[in-house]
Parts: sequence; C-alpha cells; structure tokens
Amino acid sequence: MKPRDRLRIAMQKSGRLTEPALDLLNRCGLTFRQSRDKLFCFGEGEPVDLLLVRDDDIPGLIAQGVCDLGIVGRNVLSEYSLTAGMGGPALAEWRSLGFGRCRLSVAVPQEIDYVDATQLQGMRIATSYPGLLGEWLRERGVDAGVVTLAGSVEIAPRLGTADAICDLVQSGGTLVANQLREVDVLLESEAVLAGPAVLPTDERGDMIDLLLKRLDGVIQVRE
Ligand code: ATP
Ligand code: ZN
Repeated sequence: MKPRDRLRIAMQKSGRLTEPALDLLNRCGLTFRQSRDKLFCFGEGEPVDLLLVRDDDIPGLIAQGVCDLGIVGRNVLSEYSLTAGMGGPALAEWRSLGFGRCRLSVAVPQEIDYVDATQLQGMRIATSYPGLLGEWLRERGVDAGVVTLAGSVEIAPRLGTADAICDLVQSGGTLVANQLREVDVLLESEAVLAGPAVLPTDERGDMIDLLLKRLDGVIQVRE
C-alpha cells in the first residue's frame, strides 16, 4: 500500500459514538470540512482525516492499514481480536475515552434464579458477541450453546430461540421491557482509541504521539 502522509482516523459514521468522538477531536484542536454523511472528512488545519464507517468495520480497517487509528467501543475491538482478527496484526487500546459507556452482560428471564455461570450449563445463549461470550464460558468451564444473532438479541428468549442472552446494557430499560434480568457482567465497555499494538516510527508515528498528548490534556481537563 502507498504510504500516506496524512493521518487517518476511522470513526462511526452515524450512531452513539459519532457526536462525542467528533467533539473530542474538536477539543483536541482538530477541525474537519465536508458533511458527516460522506466517507471522508478532511482535516482543515492539520494533516489528519476521518474515515466514516460502521463501527464493526473499524478494527479490520486498522488491521489492514487502511487507517491508522480508530474510535470504537471496547466491546467491538475485543470481539474482533477474539474472532476475525485472530492471527492478524495485534491491535491495542491506546486510550480510553470516557464516553459510550455500557457493559456486555448476561441476562436471563426474570423468573430464573441465578447464582453463578454454572446455571447456564446446557442453555442456548443468544449474542452478537460469540467470541467474548465463548471465552467467558470456557474460562468458567460452562458448556452452553452460543446462538449468534446480528441484532434484536433481547427478543430471542421470547421467541423461544434462546434461553438467555448476552448483550450490551446501558440503563437496563431494554432488558426490563423484554422481561429479562441482568445477572453477570462480562465486560465494562467505553469508547477507546484503537490502533496497531506497534505504532509506526515514521512521520505518522510522530503525528500519533502528538494526538495522544493532546488527548491526554483534554481528557485530564474533563476529569
Ligand atoms: P453501526 O451502524 O455503526 O454498526 P451500531 O448499531 O452497531 O452502529 P450503536 O448502537 O450506535 O452501534 O453503538 C455503538 C457503540 O456504542 C457500541 O458498540 C457500544 O460500544 C456503545 N454503546 C453504549 N451504550 C450502548 C447501548 N445501550 N447499546 C448498544 N451500544 C451501546
Ligand atoms: Zn455496529
């Protein structure tokens, strides 16, 4: 691939992370031109551009070198590393960004008593995170069926296609609406700045260092 002389950061095109990610970059002194529904946003002052994509595509784009960094949920980054990204270049969380907080949790129908993960033995658990759920079950020696669904995981128990779910939870409102109860947390998540585990040592590496310094300043001020 042709070396790029501008830094490219992938972020979610439209969703929960879009506004706060753009806000954070603005506070780092980066401004962009062109509307947000386009693929690219070009940096005005600094040689830093944005690539606007679905959040699920961000880790793969970093691994392929299409972009240098990405702003993505820890849940998406960790799942990628355990599944599609296995055997590829290692990715790392360079900073946690303090927004997009949620947890990846197991929830069961309200009437089921739950003491610990062994209760899930033999159950079918619906999730969009088969990598993280599979690892969590293995670590606990629990043999359960993992039903991978792309979305609407919370309705699976009512449909009878699963006995429990493993999904992202923020307020818990969706669970209650589906007569489910959160019983175990697999992962505490928030948006992170993701990048290759080994950062480049060329000019782009210098730009990344500068961005990390500015982020640290902005994050400290906010805290
Ligand atoms: P895309 O079209 O980019 O694939 P999406 O529907 O997968 O969008 P969003 O629902 O916008 O994504 O969520 C993006 C990220 O926001 C999640 O991966 C997660 O890290 C975080 N998040 C915070 N709270 C929640 C929540 N209650 N439900 C889902 N995601 C949440
Ligand atoms: Zn997504």
